[in-house]
Amino acid sequence: MIETLPNYVNQQWVYPTASEKIDVLNPTTDEVISQIPASSFTDVDSTVQAAQKALQEWRETPATDRIQYLFRLKQLLEENLDSLAQTITIECGKTLAESKGELRRAIENVEVACGIPMLMQGYNSEDIAKGIDETMIRQPVGVCAAITPFNFPAMIVFWFLPYAIACGNTIIVKPSEKVPNTMQQIFQLLHQVGLPKGVVNLLHGNAEVAEALIDHPQVKAISFVGSTPVAKQVYARATANGKRAQCQGGAKNPIIIMPDADLGMTSQITADSAFGCAGQRCLAASIAVTVGEAKSPFTDAIAEQASTRVVGNGLDQSVEMGPVITAESKNRIENQIQLGLENGAEVLVDGRQPKIERFEKGYFIRPTILEKVSPDSDIAHTEIFGPVLSMIHVETIEDAIELVNSSRFGNMACLFTSSGAAARQFRYQAHVGNIGINLGVAAPMAFFPFSGWGDSFFGDMHGQGRDAVEFFTQKKVVVERWFTNWSRKF
Ligand code: NAD
Repeated sequence: MIETLPNYVNQQWVYPTASEKIDVLNPTTDEVISQIPASSFTDVDSTVQAAQKALQEWRETPATDRIQYLFRLKQLLEENLDSLAQTITIECGKTLAESKGELRRAIENVEVACGIPMLMQGYNSEDIAKGIDETMIRQPVGVCAAITPFNFPAMIVFWFLPYAIACGNTIIVKPSEKVPNTMQQIFQLLHQVGLPKGVVNLLHGNAEVAEALIDHPQVKAISFVGSTPVAKQVYARATANGKRAQCQGGAKNPIIIMPDADLGMTSQITADSAFGCAGQRCLAASIAVTVGEAKSPFTDAIAEQASTRVVGNGLDQSVEMGPVITAESKNRIENQIQLGLENGAEVLVDGRQPKIERFEKGYFIRPTILEKVSPDSDIAHTEIFGPVLSMIHVETIEDAIELVNSSRFGNMACLFTSSGAAARQFRYQAHVGNIGINLGVAAPMAFFPFSGWGDSFFGDMHGQGRDAVEFFTQKKVVVERWFTNWSRKF
C-alpha cells in the first residue's frame, strides 16, 4: 500500500480536496515510495487563511519566546538526524554522508535564527531636531511562502523557515514534488515542537500550487530556489503582484587551476565538487579551466578521480555517488553530453549508460569528463546538473577571469593556486557571488548570505544570515516629539 502524504495546516494533518496524485519515485530503484496530492486552489486558500489567522498572536509573542521553539526544533533535528538522512538518501539518491552534511547545514540555520532577539533590533537617534527622536523598528512582513527544489530536500527550506518564524511571520512551505518525504518528516518534528496553530504549514503539489501561492493576495513574501527559467518567472510574477521576492536560480560554476596549485589536492577537491551529489548541487563545479602548464598533470589526475569513483546505492556506506533524480534527468544529461561531442568536445571519461549491479533500473550516470570544450559552445554555457565536468584550457589568469565573466550565471567560481596575488586578483575581478580559493564548494555558512549573482539570483536580499532578517522584516520609522516642561540640566 503506497502512502499518500497529507498537508499540514493549522497544526493538523489534512488530506486535500483534490483527487489527483503525484508519484514519488526512488531514483536508485525506480520504485514508487509515496504519493502526494496535487493540492487545489481551495487547499491553498484555506492554508493561507490559517497562516493569516495565526499572524496577530504570533507577532505579539516576544522574540525571546518565539526562539524557544527553535531550540526545541534543533534538539529534535539532532536526535532524528540519522533517520532523516536515510529519508533524504532514499528519495533524492545522494549518499548518506551527503544527506547528513545537508542536515548539518539546516541545523546551523536554526542556530543562527536563535539570535533573532538581537539580530532584528532596530536603531535610533535622539534629538534629530530639538526635542525630537527618531527610531527604526523591524516588524514582521506577514504570511510568507517558500517554494523549494529537489536537490536539498531538507536544507533549503531552512534558509528561510527559521528566520521567517523567529521574526514573527507565519510560513507555508511547498517542497519539490520529487522529494516531499523529507519535509513530511521534518513537519512531524515541527508538530512535536508545538508551535501555535497556523505558524508553520506544509502544502504539497506542483507548479500550480506554487503559482496559487505567488498570486494569493494575503501572501506577502516569496522565497524561491530552483532552475533559472522558473526563478526568473517567479520573481516577475511575485513582484508584479506587489510582493517581496528572493529567487535563487541555476548555475554553471567554473573552477580555475593555476600551474602553481597543489594538483593532487586540487583534483580530489574538484572531483568532489563536480561529482558529489551526482553533480546536482547549485555549487557543483561544472567547468575546469586549466591555466598554462596545469593542463597535462591536472587532466591525468582528474581522469583518475572520475574513473575510480564508486557509484551505486547511496545507502551503502562504501558508495561515493548515487543516481540522478529522474529518468528524464538521466536522458537529458546524456543528450547534453552527445550534443557537446557533436560540437567538437572529446570524451575523456565516459559515464553514460553504466551497469550498476542490483540497481539496473536506477537513474545512474557515472562521472563523465569532456575535454577540448569550446568556450563558445552550448555545453560551456548550459547548466547540466549532473556528474559531467567540461574542460577548457587557457594561457593566463586574465583569460580565465574573462571566461568566468562571460557567463550569464554568477553562483560560484573557485581558484586553485599558491599565489596570494592571483587569489586577490581573482576575488576582486570575478563577477560572481560566491568565491572559493582552494575550495571546490564555496557554500556560505548560515551567518553569511548565499550570494548568487547574474542569472543565479533575482532579488535584493539573499537567503541566510542578516539578509534573511532584512527579508523577513519590514522597517518602520517613528519620529517622536513629547512636549515636556522639564528644564535641560546637561
Ligand atoms: P525547478 O525549477 O524545476 O523546481 C523548483 C520548485 O519550483 C519546485 O518546488 C517546483 O514545483 C516549483 N515550480 C516548477 N515550475 C514552477 C512555476 N512555473 N512556477 C512556480 N513554481 C514552479 O528546479 P529543480 O529541478 O527542483 O531544482 C534544480 C534547480 O535548482 C537547478 O537549476 C539548481 O541549480 C537550482 N538550485 C539553485 C540553488 C541556489 O542556491 N541558487 C540551490 C539549489 C538548487
